[in-house]
Amino acid sequence: MGVLTAVRGDITGQEVDAVVNAANSSLLGGGGVDGAIHRRGGKSIVRECRELRASAYPDGLPAGGAVATTAGLLPARWVIHTVGPVWSRTEDRSAQLASCYRESLAVARELGARTVAFPAVSTGAYGWPLDDGARIAVAAVQEAVGKEDFDEVRFVLFDDRSYESFARRIG
Ligand code: ADP
Repeated sequence: MGVLTAVRGDITGQEVDAVVNAANSSLLGGGGVDGAIHRRGGKSIVRECRELRASAYPDGLPAGGAVATTAGLLPARWVIHTVGPVWSRTEDRSAQLASCYRESLAVARELGARTVAFPAVSTGAYGWPLDDGARIAVAAVQEAVGKEDFDEVRFVLFDDRSYESFARRIG
């Protein structure tokens, strides 16, 4: 098994050191992955997010950034919240999307997390075309894991189409 893997599944059930949340910049919850993580993880996660808003991020976390909380009732130890860019037809925001993956892995490394699970950031409510989102994700993670020490970086895809798109790129 290579360091990069892809599975079909639910990010909230992953038994890894850290799961990444496709958060929004408020850090206070939303739909999709964000809703599922807060529902299953319990109230301690949003409590920590509120503290982050009150301290380091009064204006919210900007797109491309990442920050960790503990993972409450989830099997993981940490949730790394990252804010994907909203897809734009007129502006190229690829660098922000790549930054989500890179910054999340930098936070993971600081925490000592050796296994990390990512959703397909920005490809849901934020409208990023799936295939392009997968391309950017895999390239960014491949580049980062070349320099860092992880046992597994797992992409967790919710449907067949997303799974195929990621799996094909990982090989
Ligand atoms: P964003 O707002 O960054 O687009 P979303 O949470 O809306 O984030 O969607 C990101 C991707 O995650 C989409 O492909 C969506 O189908 C998928 N997704 C939604 N719920 C889950 C889940 N529980 N586990 C894994 N992936 C999920």
